[in-house]
Amino acid sequence: MSEKYLIINAGSSSLKFSLYEVPEMKEIVNGYIEKIGNVDSFYTLKFNGKKLEKRKAIMDHTEAVRTMLEELLDNQFIVDVSEIKGIGHRVVHGGEFYSQSVVIDEEVLNNIKDLTKLVPLHHPGEIAGIESMKSIMPDVPQVAVFDTAFHQTMPRENYMYALPYSWYEENGVRKYGFHGTSHRYITEEMQKYFNKKDVNLIICHIGSGASISCIKDGECYDTSMGLTPLDGLIMGTRSGSIDSSIIEYICKERSLTVEEVTSILNKKSGLLGIAGQNDFRDLEALANKGDEKAQLAIKMLRNSIAKFIAQYYVELGGQVDALVFTAGIGENAITLRSDIIKSISSAMGIELDADANNNIARFKEIQSGVISTLSSKFKVMVIPTNEEYMILKDTFELSQQVKSKGQSKVLKK
Ligand code: AMP
Repeated sequence: MSEKYLIINAGSSSLKFSLYEVPEMKEIVNGYIEKIGNVDSFYTLKFNGKKLEKRKAIMDHTEAVRTMLEELLDNQFIVDVSEIKGIGHRVVHGGEFYSQSVVIDEEVLNNIKDLTKLVPLHHPGEIAGIESMKSIMPDVPQVAVFDTAFHQTMPRENYMYALPYSWYEENGVRKYGFHGTSHRYITEEMQKYFNKKDVNLIICHIGSGASISCIKDGECYDTSMGLTPLDGLIMGTRSGSIDSSIIEYICKERSLTVEEVTSILNKKSGLLGIAGQNDFRDLEALANKGDEKAQLAIKMLRNSIAKFIAQYYVELGGQVDALVFTAGIGENAITLRSDIIKSISSAMGIELDADANNNIARFKEIQSGVISTLSSKFKVMVIPTNEEYMILKDTFELSQQVKSKGQSKVLKK
């Protein structure tokens, strides 16, 4: 018999949720509450091909959770909250505590609270979401699915920064990596595709946030994001890796505080900083009209991606099963994919199948497949990511284990 599961993804000022019927994994409704903390907050509900928009002042995440439940009840997606049998939360940071998804108990919640110092924008909303659901449904299993968990297999030489060792031991300064749920999804899809566990992959998750992972023998070996999601590639509004001396220099030159500069590195840099546009579609449109800064931003993004691919190609000793593009830009930006592949093709012995590349995007008939020629040394592929599915799958499996055993806390593989 089907059961209902709720998936919650709380951002710093937003809350996304989806209600699913399981085991069919069928979405009943999804909602997106935006501008939490503002009087002009609003939300949308999507179900049965319909879209409902409402405006309401929602001052914090606890109120957002209440609004979500009211909507689920008012629209009769559930008749009573007791119909919800499991709740999955996307949690940004699991630190070194978690390499897999877990059922949230007091200890887990305390660890998530401890990690707030590393992601002060994200965790408060996530914690409020968990605590509100716990007060309303204390007996329903709640599961945390961490963005960092998949990257916990990285060897020490790849996750340490060359900084005083005590900063790692006492302050947790190391590379954690993010988008782990997406990188895990693609890895599992590739394991099915190649029919083997020990796949070697370079996964390019290129969306408004972007990261590339190096997968060796089916596990994360290296990744481009670091202590926080600011590191690595050039992104929509984030700078990616920069010389850290820039921070002190620009603080003095422009009389800014460290907090102000950090905020600019996160919200006003990247493609937006260079060309005034962070949405890749708008940026491409500008570039096509001859805008030089937009053209420069796209070339910088291409090079930033190509450099990580080259690094991971070397880390894998050239033994790559597939280079995979995913997320909003990776799945859709046909010209960028082509430019990236052209820039690495002779060095790596791969060749673009231009027709296949032109035919694959979310807005086309085909959304996934191989975009390299048969004679290429390894496959280049486009695979749509599905983080929601992973969160739902972990939540379902862990909730079932809790129900059957009453105590299992960590997902059994
Ligand atoms: P995500 O964060 O994965 O949702 O990706 C968002 C990014 O994907 C934005 O920069 C979008 O402009 C980009 N994107 C979405 N659709 C397309 C498209 N058809 N062509 C190019 N970029 C796209």
